[in-house]
Amino acid sequence: MANYDGIIIGAGHNGLILQAYLGKAGLKTLCIERRHVAGGGLSTVEDPRHPGFLHNTHAFFQRAITTMPWYADLGLERHGARYIEPELNVALLTRDGDALEWWTDIDRTVASFAEFSRRDADTLRRWQHEFVPILRDILIPESRSVPVPPDQRRAALEKSAAGRRLLAVSELSPLEFVHREFEHPTVKAGLLFFNGLREVDLRVKGFGHHIAALLASPAKAQMSRGGSAALARALEASVRENGGEIRLMTEPARIIVESGRAVGVETHDGEVIRARQFVASSLNPTQTFIDLLDDGLVPHHIREQVEGFQYNLLAPLFALHVNLHEPPRYVASAARPELARAFMVIIGLDHADQFLDIVRHHEAGTIPPTVMWGACPTLFDPSQAPPGEHTAFMWEKLPYRLNGDPANWDRAREAHGNAMVALWQQYAPNLLDAVIGRFTRSPLDVERELPNMREGDLLVGAFTNDQVGYHRPFRGAGAYRTHIPRLYLCGSSSHPGGNVTGLPGYNAAHVILSELGISTKEIFA
Ligand SMILES: Cc1cc2nc3c(=O)[nH]c(=O)nc-3n(C[C@H](O)[C@H](O)[C@H](O)COP(=O)(O)OP(=O)(O)OC[C@H]3O[C@@H](n4cnc5c(N)ncnc54)[C@H](O)[C@@H]3O)c2cc1C
Repeated sequence: MANYDGIIIGAGHNGLILQAYLGKAGLKTLCIERRHVAGGGLSTVEDPRHPGFLHNTHAFFQRAITTMPWYADLGLERHGARYIEPELNVALLTRDGDALEWWTDIDRTVASFAEFSRRDADTLRRWQHEFVPILRDILIPESRSVPVPPDQRRAALEKSAAGRRLLAVSELSPLEFVHREFEHPTVKAGLLFFNGLREVDLRVKGFGHHIAALLASPAKAQMSRGGSAALARALEASVRENGGEIRLMTEPARIIVESGRAVGVETHDGEVIRARQFVASSLNPTQTFIDLLDDGLVPHHIREQVEGFQYNLLAPLFALHVNLHEPPRYVASAARPELARAFMVIIGLDHADQFLDIVRHHEAGTIPPTVMWGACPTLFDPSQAPPGEHTAFMWEKLPYRLNGDPANWDRAREAHGNAMVALWQQYAPNLLDAVIGRFTRSPLDVERELPNMREGDLLVGAFTNDQVGYHRPFRGAGAYRTHIPRLYLCGSSSHPGGNVTGLPGYNAAHVILSELGISTKEIFA
């Protein structure tokens, strides 16, 4: 006898968002999660050796969360979620003491660009102006809907001037876009860095619009008060309010398929949990199709697609977390006092050519000269450390297969953490005395904790032309459906991809409810 209408595998934010919507629609669901805590990448942990120091070990900078449709629909502020959006959103500190600043106020950003190049400031303004409607009327709605086949998309875009413009800019690679439009090396480096944060290969054509969209985006980086896990707690509360159950430390061994339909899961403990209507997986394609489905259920052409699914070479992050007596005081803030309240700080980056070097090192499995970025969360939310104390972190893009083998990270981790501290001190000398504790986490640690982030790929799948939109994760499994009726996908390997957007879960909710014939009118605002 099935106790549930549906089972969701994985309690990351996408699984929880899907579950909360389905609960609102009156469905009884169970989410199973292998860890002892729900939230996946929304993780905040206390340093066990230094009580009261909280660290966000995965997602920290969350883009425009408060504007996401699910944030209001699921009543997350009623459940305790609160977001902070610092005004000086990003600062790139150069070695010679300059800073390229990205403000929530576009005029201040333009003024900062103008300090480097008047022409680049004008270009920024022009692209921002041109892409605001493209973002508002095309790109944002596309990210919040079920993708359509590429031919259909192109035909629709060709009907409007904005659509044609988007298609033309997309033809370029991000690298071509930046080199064609901008002149100053620091400006170019800053723009490519932001694009790199989205982990698109800068050399690949088809993504030239990403930088223009970033320039136009009103969506800035935000942080969750109380730590990223506070959003997970709010999502869990919303799930429970709508009758959903979350079972921790429960791992599926297989998805049960009967009469050609997904009807439940069997756990590693041998328990069979049945679902009347559907199973949805927020895991990666390798886990969903190879690990959890019996061989006979995966046709040869699907297996080939799954085996060919590319994880993102450039996504893995190495993290250094520190406990501090005082926040980092950057040398550059002597001339620019506003830097004392900069949110995301980037150091080690001066020139656009560094990116190609970083890519080469990733391909070779070696460590490039350090470019790193991070924040001091307690500047904006003192609740994340004991009174008067601080926490801070820096991330660096480093290869998963260090010198050919991810296991090498366990030996190299500490030394690399030392190198990062040394570089950080060059920009903020007070760190020499301020650090009272620290720990590091490698790309291998990420995969150990969240195996869906295979190869440390925090986006759960590369953004390449055949793994985006209708074809994400691959042809035949896009649009949240799989080749097995009533088996759905709802995680970051589906459109629009990884990072904390919640949109794979949100879009999957539309698909599942419409296939079950349930009206979505009252459920989605
Ligand atoms: C170091 C780091 C920094 C990051 N920084 C940012 C950032 O600043 N901003 C941002 O937006 N994003 C960031 N990300 C990426 C972000 O965390 C992910 O893209 C996001 O969490 C993906 O959400 P999800 O719900 O699809 O998957 P996840 O959050 O990974 O959730 C999947 C869930 O499934 C569970 N699971 C896995 N395997 C199984 C299994 N076999 N059975 C049952 N359950 C299973 C996992 O335990 C997890 O709870 C970062 C990630 C890392 C690692």
